[in-house]
Amino acid sequence: MSKQLSLDHWWMPFTANSAFKASAHPRIIVRSKDIYCYTEDGRELIDGMCGLISAPCGHSRPEIAKAVGDQLGRMSYAMPFQNGHRLGFELAERLTHYAPEGLTRCFFTNSGSESIDSAMKIALAWHRKRGDGHRVRFVSRERAYHGVNFGGMSLGGIQANRDAFGVGLPGVVHMRHTWLEANRFSVGQPLDGKELADDLSRLCALVGGQNIAACFVEPVAGSTGVLVPPVGYLERLRAICDEHGILLVFDEVITGFGRLGENFGAQRLGVAPDMMTIAKGITNSSVPMGAVMVSEKIYAELTDAGKHKGVELFHGYTYSAHPVACAAALATLDIFDKEQLVQRSRTLEPGFQKAVHALGGLPVVTDVRGLGMMAGIDLSPSGAAGARGLDVIQKLYDAGVLVKFTGDTMLLGPALTIEPAMVDTLVSRIGDVLSGLAV
Ligand code: PLP
Repeated sequence: MSKQLSLDHWWMPFTANSAFKASAHPRIIVRSKDIYCYTEDGRELIDGMCGLISAPCGHSRPEIAKAVGDQLGRMSYAMPFQNGHRLGFELAERLTHYAPEGLTRCFFTNSGSESIDSAMKIALAWHRKRGDGHRVRFVSRERAYHGVNFGGMSLGGIQANRDAFGVGLPGVVHMRHTWLEANRFSVGQPLDGKELADDLSRLCALVGGQNIAACFVEPVAGSTGVLVPPVGYLERLRAICDEHGILLVFDEVITGFGRLGENFGAQRLGVAPDMMTIAKGITNSSVPMGAVMVSEKIYAELTDAGKHKGVELFHGYTYSAHPVACAAALATLDIFDKEQLVQRSRTLEPGFQKAVHALGGLPVVTDVRGLGMMAGIDLSPSGAAGARGLDVIQKLYDAGVLVKFTGDTMLLGPALTIEPAMVDTLVSRIGDVLSGLAV
């Protein structure tokens, strides 16, 4: 650790700040390239998470760096209110071709959390425009992660993320999560549990389906530890939403951009949402950006101004469709096309899932789940919840691997550019560390 660098002043997000800053060897990354990150003392780590499952094309792509640099020189910013720029329109159009059919309109944000809050506001505004202003409730799920702003936090179902922050937004009700003991070590979509979707019917009976604006779900619940939906579950949610006039919103911040072997989870899982929130992979994590992809019907009805031609949605960010982020996103989509990364994800999936599931034989591993190029591995706790996770993060770092833990659950989601041999190296390093843990 170079002595000039003070760690005091950056209040780090989702980090055990005092432990990190007190460490004799704080984990500082100085450089990243492809599937690797490099530490200050010159060590090479395989990034098992491609950032936060957010850099599917691999780190520090020169094509994106060039597009960003050129754009900064040409037009570093343009006001997006009552003005536009070519890149925003170009990107929105390209995204609609990439998105599930029917999601024809794109509202830009700067993060996943902002996408979620924007989608909540669009849902409320649309119902109100249709004379359904009483639809002010939202349904979400236990163990959900929808970012950290007040809307997303209120939808969220991970207790630690809500605990310190009061009651959140009123009117949010939660379905059960989809983890079932009986489905432990399932490969792909578990067979049991589609009836868990009937929680939505029960909540409709409880609060009135006619009062619910939207139901938010991650097609595969990512941050909580990769909970893959049971066969038939999302289809059932779709049907119940239709029955009650509830919008179905897929939060595809993690599952988008090839993670599940199709452009988006909706396409992999064969269920069409009314809106979709995206972020992360949209710029390969190079520049912050997010978006809400919206169905034609919602856009058309919400922007049907009649005689009044004023602003239809009083919502937007200074940096909505930031030109530099747009340039990064267009360069990212070019890489996806050129390198056929979605198809590559599909090709990599069987080997990746086989390797990860083989860890299920280790005594410390209590469950393995996965779909596409993401997986969650539950470890038996050691002392307080999350203590095992913190310990293993450091052990893996020392062994040359970067991963993320949520509590005692390890998340994996490497870049889609990874070579099969490196999948094996990544998983065997993890296996070596896990084999050495006392149960
Ligand atoms: N939604 C999902 C499903 C996510 O996984 C995340 C982040 O991991 C978010 C929303 C929040 O995104 P951000 O951290 O960009 O605000």
